[in-house]
Amino acid sequence: MFRSPFMNAVIEMAEECRNGEVPVAAAIVFEGKIVAISTNDVETSGIPWRHAEFVAISEALKKLGVRYLDKASLYVTLEPCAFCSAAIEKVRMRDIFFGAYDTKCGAIAHTIRLFDHSMVKPRIIGGIQEERCSSILRKFFGKMRSTGKRNVIEDEVEQSFDDAWSVLEAGSR
Ligand SMILES: [Zn+2]
Repeated sequence: MFRSPFMNAVIEMAEECRNGEVPVAAAIVFEGKIVAISTNDVETSGIPWRHAEFVAISEALKKLGVRYLDKASLYVTLEPCAFCSAAIEKVRMRDIFFGAYDTKCGAIAHTIRLFDHSMVKPRIIGGIQEERCSSILRKFFGKMRSTGKRNVIEDEVEQSFDDAWSVLEAGSR
């Protein structure tokens, strides 16, 4: 099984997320160190594409003073969406390590499967500590449901976790 202290770091950050953001966290690792780590910043910034990966990538570029992250690795608790996958492609990320699968919005193993059609071929490992990563999101959406704070997009996102979850459960039987 794939184990990494960096994956644990992003999982712990997502678990501690209390700012109303969908609890996803991402880190960029370069030369064995985390150079940038972030949760989603959609609610706080009001910008719908400020996903954890996008924020961490932007910070890493700035901190390292580089244009590409072809010697860096991304660790994220959820399969990146199409927007983040495009950003990952643009910076030529060397590795993508992610936790939960996202059957509706994920763009690595689902939907457009961006890297199937790209010249950029990062190493990709998905499903790392998947149950733990999925449960963070399920708990969050469960809480949203009980407090009545929901919208259509959240319903759809949650449904995609339910789908992924049933695939997982079916596979483990
Ligand atoms: Zn994204």
